[in-house]
Amino acid sequence: MPIYEYRCKQCNNKFDALQSLGADGKDLPCPECGEKGPERLISVFAASGNEPVSGGGGCSAGSGFT
Ligand SMILES: [Zn+2]
Repeated sequence: MPIYEYRCKQCNNKFDALQSLGADGKDLPCPECGEKGPERLISVFAASGNEPVSGGGGCSAGSGFT
């Protein structure tokens, strides 16, 4: 699950929250003042493209009952 960063429109407090994909966080209350409907900022972790690519061989797990 991605972590999104939000900024409260009321008090300008920045906080981040774990959200499911596609959630817009419109109902997230600000931890400081409790105001809902924060503005979502660009998530940070999308910048790193250093994921090891594994697999590509044969994923034989679970295939074939003998
Ligand atoms: Zn706030």
